[in-house]
Amino acid sequence: MKKDLSGIKIGRLEALYSTGKNKYGGYIWLCRCDCGNEHKVLGSDFNRGKIKSCGCLRKEIGNRNIKHGYNGTITYKSWQSMKDKGNTLDRIDNNRNYTPENCKWSTYEEQARNRITSKLSKSKVKIIKKFIKDNKNISEIANIFNVSRGTIYDIKKNRIWRNIE
Ligand SMILES: [Zn+2]
Repeated sequence: MKKDLSGIKIGRLEALYSTGKNKYGGYIWLCRCDCGNEHKVLGSDFNRGKIKSCGCLRKEIGNRNIKHGYNGTITYKSWQSMKDKGNTLDRIDNNRNYTPENCKWSTYEEQARNRITSKLSKSKVKIIKKFIKDNKNISEIANIFNVSRGTIYDIKKNRIWRNIE
């Protein structure tokens, strides 16, 4: 059912008019943001307060955090230098986010090994190698096996799972 949202303001967005339905039947509303941008949102998202700006709000908060050091300029720099030395940032628990307590630095190889032990098996890699041979798209293969494109690329380049034919 179409809810009339015109004139309603949530956060920085004011709903102007509906521009029609998306492919799932949800109404799209054109909103005007306080910053002057126009922004289309799904009516239900708008209504639940899920979207409060055209994106400018998030950007401002992000900038503020950097200024105040929450994102730690120093931390970022030290990460960068670690990265330059050939290390990559890795998660201790692959099912959790990249939060400081769940991160460790590992070499490229360690990380690759970590990725494969968590998701792939010999039989899967065999199929992946066949797909690669058949020139199947890397993203597509990654999707099928629920691994990163990097993993598929590593297999393609023979960096990991070298001895599987
Ligand atoms: Zn805005």
